[in-house]
Amino acid sequence: MHAMTCIPTITDEHQVVLVPAVELQRLRPLAQFALAVLEESRSELADLDGGWLQDKAAELGLLVRVPVTEPCGDECRCAEYGAFPQDCLRYSAEVSAALKARP
Ligand SMILES: [Zn+2]
Repeated sequence: MHAMTCIPTITDEHQVVLVPAVELQRLRPLAQFALAVLEESRSELADLDGGWLQDKAAELGLLVRVPVTEPCGDECRCAEYGAFPQDCLRYSAEVSAALKARP
């Protein structure tokens, strides 16, 4: 069995903890998205475009397009558009897990 590679990481409480490298790799698209948003915000004087945000999230795999032929449910945004078939845009499994784990 291989030893797990861990990376020293600073927590919000300024403590150094060892985080498995595979965990950091899993969160990398979220960090890339945050950096892209910060950069875009600076170049667009904080006037971010919703379409740009959605496209960037999809590009990084944070949102995934799922082909559907009918509404997923009353609370899903695809139901608002009404035209089917269409692609339903959903959180990736990693984003869903991160949202659930959020304090
Ligand atoms: Zn849907």
